[in-house]
Amino acid sequence: TDVLSLHGVTKRYGATAALADVSFALKPGEVVALVGPSGAGKSTVFRCVTRLVAPDAGTVSVLGQDLASLSGGELRRARRDVGLIFQQFNLINRMSALDNVLAGRMGHVATWRVVARQFPRDDRQLALACLDRVGLLDKAYQRSDSLSGGQQQRVAIARVLAQRSRILLADEPVSSLDPQSADNVLTVLRQVAQESGIAVLCALHQVDLARRFADRVIALKAGRIVLDGPASAFNAAA
Ligand code: ADP
Ligand code: ADP
Repeated sequence: TDVLSLHGVTKRYGATAALADVSFALKPGEVVALVGPSGAGKSTVFRCVTRLVAPDAGTVSVLGQDLASLSGGELRRARRDVGLIFQQFNLINRMSALDNVLAGRMGHVATWRVVARQFPRDDRQLALACLDRVGLLDKAYQRSDSLSGGQQQRVAIARVLAQRSRILLADEPVSSLDPQSADNVLTVLRQVAQESGIAVLCALHQVDLARRFADRVIALKAGRIVLDGPASAFNAAA
């Protein structure tokens, strides 16, 4: 019942081993913090899961499917199971919060449909429900660039919910936020993971946030996993 698993993943860039024999698996609803210094390999993990890069060795499986075995169409479908949020929220600024969430529902290639307001009524209801779950129903019709940073990141989480992804990859999602907004965003991430069973893999450089918000912490150093355990154990080790 692992939703995401890496087995023996190795990726080199020339002489640099960005990842060396990395193995771990995520269960539904699990919130895992990925920590490690700059250059440790966190981004490379994400690139392997989205198949922006193919590992030199090892396998990456999403919902039990080895990504290397998938056809182009199957890979596109698998990618929809993986939602992404970034440090810079990557919303479309001129659009409302609601339309940004709808864009997730339709896939980025279909964003023009949102702009042209051609989308099914059911999608609109779903998008509003997703905004409600991140506490932003009252901001649905505001332009996303009029929202605070924390609110924009919560819109990005709602967009992943609308896409019905089973895995959420969060790449330093709170690095540009003040501490209070960072707590709000990570609290929402935990809630949606628990409620919907989405597995969250979240790169964080603040170790205290990893301890407080993750179920489990995986620490990378020079491309290797040096620690993988409950956040409480990490507390003791660090
Ligand atoms: P992190 O996200 O933890 O900062 P990365 O996954 O970006 O780490 O990088 C891991 C290692 O791989 C680093 O040594 C980095 O310099 C190297 N690296 C990453 N991407 C490339 C690339 N496209 N070309 C060459 N080296 C790369
Ligand atoms: P978050 O903490 O997730 O950013 P909140 O709704 O909790 O969102 O607001 C946090 C703080 O940001 C509050 O003090 C609020 O007044 C302020 N805030 C709300 N909207 C905006 C905005 N559009 N621009 C700047 N600050 C805002």
